Amino acid sequence: MTTKPSTSKVAVSIDVEDWYHGPSVMPPGDSGAALKQFLDAHPDAERGYRYVDACLEMLDRRGIKATFFWVAEYARRHPELLRRVAAAGHEIGCHGLTHAAKLDARTKRPLFTPAAFSERTIQARAILQELCGRAVIGYRAPNAYVSGAMLDALEELGFRYDSSVSVNSLYNKTDSRLAGVTTRPYYPARGGLGLANARRGLIEFPWPYLDLCGFKMQAAGGPFLRLFGSTLILRGLSQSLRRGHTVFYFHPIDICNEDFPFKFSLKRPFLWYIKGERVKRRVERVLDFIRDRAVNFEALLRDPELVS
Ligand SMILES: [Zn+2]
Repeated sequence: MTTKPSTSKVAVSIDVEDWYHGPSVMPPGDSGAALKQFLDAHPDAERGYRYVDACLEMLDRRGIKATFFWVAEYARRHPELLRRVAAAGHEIGCHGLTHAAKLDARTKRPLFTPAAFSERTIQARAILQELCGRAVIGYRAPNAYVSGAMLDALEELGFRYDSSVSVNSLYNKTDSRLAGVTTRPYYPARGGLGLANARRGLIEFPWPYLDLCGFKMQAAGGPFLRLFGSTLILRGLSQSLRRGHTVFYFHPIDICNEDFPFKFSLKRPFLWYIKGERVKRRVERVLDFIRDRAVNFEALLRDPELVS
């Protein structure tokens, strides 16, 4: 990697989904039936889409063009919103068909066959491309559960990049040991997520971390921004920028001011209560810090020294 720290960029992304797409509500590996049943029973459950315009405003005020990774099923429910995002000059990426997790978090075994994963991803991309009228080349794995087989399939389908891998000391949501992976963009080895020996058609943009004397803390944004505040995230981003290009992301639901309509799950209480205005201020603090280095993934891909 030859990127000089002074030229390192931050790829800014927004994962467009709702509060109920997460694993504390949807059963793992749900192919869409549980989601449909939930939405039929609770037609007023949606909240996240109401905060996409606020995300656009925050970015626009700072002249930042970002990548919006959409859950395709959610985009189909809000086509005008997606078109508005695309018309504002932001990239559209794919965040799965229904936000189904593709790995069992405990066993790390796949929850979908490779054929089913490809089929669902083709469907999701077709929906998004139809709505935005442009090629969709980027993927972020729902819940960041990602495997080497998934990346191989994405490359075969013509995706140019993925941004799901997070090296940290608290969890590993992948099925690989992530040998040699840091926070710099890299070519992943076929069949795994470690470093490849040769170039290939797909680049991985791993998430930033804060290294505290060997203890690595995820610093990409989203839930960690809610839980730990912006100071640690900014420190992690600063460190990661010294390693090369890096990533920051958040969700519209992070800045949602309304109560979620159901409080039946307390598995992840911070996700349900720490949000709204105070998290919006944290996002804005990070955006102010990175504004001169902020780009979207498709712009970053044009850097000839992206991966060495
Ligand atoms: Zn997500």
